[in-house]
Amino acid sequence: MSEQKKTGVELPELDILQRFDVPGPRYTSYPTADRFKKEFGPKEYAEVLSSRATVSPEAALSLYVHIPFCSNICYYCGCNKEITKDHSKSAQYIETLGKECDLIKDVMTGTHTVEQLHFGGGSPTFLEHDEIAQVMETLTSRFPLEENAEVSIEVDPRCCDPKKVETLAKAGFNRMSVGQQDFDNRVQIAVNRIQPFEMTKATMDAARANGFGSINMDLIYGLPFQSQDSFNVTLDKVLELSPDRIALYHYAHLPEHFKAQRRINAEDLPSTPEKVQIMLNAIRRLTSSGYHFIGMDHFAKDSDTLSQAQENGTLQRNFQGYSTKPECDMVALGVSSISKVAGCYAANARDLPTYYERINNGELATIRGYALNADDKLRAKVIMNLMCQFAVNKAQIEDEFGIKFDEYFAYELRNLEHFAKEGLCELSKDKIVVTPKGKLLVRAVAMNFDRYLREDERVRRYSKIV
Ligand code: SF4
Repeated sequence: MSEQKKTGVELPELDILQRFDVPGPRYTSYPTADRFKKEFGPKEYAEVLSSRATVSPEAALSLYVHIPFCSNICYYCGCNKEITKDHSKSAQYIETLGKECDLIKDVMTGTHTVEQLHFGGGSPTFLEHDEIAQVMETLTSRFPLEENAEVSIEVDPRCCDPKKVETLAKAGFNRMSVGQQDFDNRVQIAVNRIQPFEMTKATMDAARANGFGSINMDLIYGLPFQSQDSFNVTLDKVLELSPDRIALYHYAHLPEHFKAQRRINAEDLPSTPEKVQIMLNAIRRLTSSGYHFIGMDHFAKDSDTLSQAQENGTLQRNFQGYSTKPECDMVALGVSSISKVAGCYAANARDLPTYYERINNGELATIRGYALNADDKLRAKVIMNLMCQFAVNKAQIEDEFGIKFDEYFAYELRNLEHFAKEGLCELSKDKIVVTPKGKLLVRAVAMNFDRYLREDERVRRYSKIV
C-alpha cells in the first residue's frame, strides 16, 4: 500500500499552500460562534430545552463542563481561563455548577442520561482530589451516566501526578487529553510552561495502568525557538510515549487580542517558511509512524475509535474538535461554554461575575445564541461532511433536505472548479470528494459553502494553518 493511501493525506506543493491557505474558521460549529445573536438569551434557551423531547427525541445527551482555573499562565494561551492559586474559588464554582445543573434539569425534556461527558478548561486538573469526586457527584446526581459512557478530561501533567490520575479513574474518567505543546526546554521557558518528559510520561503511564482507553496529546508548532531540528526531537519523544491521538495546532501570534502573548518576543518566533517545514515534516513523520490523518490538525492510530468513526462515516465535529458519537444534543455547563441543543446554539457568559450573578439569581447564564434556519442546517451538514468525511454525497443531501444539489449550490460549485483544477477536490455528478492533496486545505474547501463569509469581511479575523 502506498504511503499516501495508507495515511490518506498527500502534502500539497508550497505554492498551492500559499494560494489556498486563506484565514478561515475551524468549523466546530456552523454558523460560527461570531454569528450568534444577543437577542437569544435565557428565555429562548429555556424554551429550546423544554422542546427537546419533541424537536430532537432521538438525540443522545452529551455534557461539556468548563473548569476555567489554571495555576500558571502559558504565554501562548488564547483560552478563557482564570489564573489563581486560591482553591476556595473552585469550591464556589462547583457549587454554582450544581445550581446551573438544577436550572437546566428543571426545564429540559427528553433523556437525562449522559452518553458522553467532557471536562475542558482552563485546567480541569486544577481541581483537588476531593473536588474531582465532588464535581462528578454534582453532575451525575442530576444527569446519570450510561454504563459505557465516554468520560474524558483535559489533563495538565504539571497538576496531575499519578495519584491524581488514580482519583480521576475512580471518579469514572476513561479518556484523557494531555497538554504538552513541545518538549524542548528552551521553548518551554519562552512560553512559561515547564513540563519535562518524565512528568508527562508518569501521567500517561498512570493513565494506562488505570485503564484509560484513549489518550490524546496536544502539540503546537510556531512557538518561540522552535526549528525543524528541535521539533524533530519533540516528535521522537511523542512517538516514544505513543498517544492514541495527536492534535497538532498552529500558534497564531495575536498579542493585540491575547494579553498573555505580549510576553512572547516576536523576534523569537520561527519564520513562516520554517513553520511550514515544521508542519509538513511533522505530518510526514506522524503519518509514516502509524497515525492516520483525521482532518484539520488531528491524527489517530488506526486502532483508535476516531479512525474507525471516520472509516464508517460516523465522525462528527463539535466545539471540542472531532467526536466519535453520532449527532447528540450537547448541554454545556460553566462560564463561556456553548451548548448545542435541538438545532440551537446557546453561549454562556464569558466572565465569572456575570456567570455567578445569573445563576445565583435563578436564571440561565445564556448571553448569546442562535436558532438554525433551514439553510443553516443544510449548509452545516455539507460543511460537516467535508470536514469529517472529506466528501459530500449529493443524493443523500437531496433526500434529507428536499433540494436539487446542483441548482441550490450552483454558485458554490462554480467556485470549487478553481480547487478542482489544482487537484484539491474532484467534482462529479454524484459527489464532491476532497483529494488526499486537498485534505490539508479542507477548511478552504468548506468555506465555499459558508453563506455568511460571503456577506462580510469577518474572514480577516481567522488564522491560517501556517
Ligand atoms: S494553555 Fe491551558 S494550562 Fe496554560 S494557561 Fe491556557 S488554559 Fe491554562
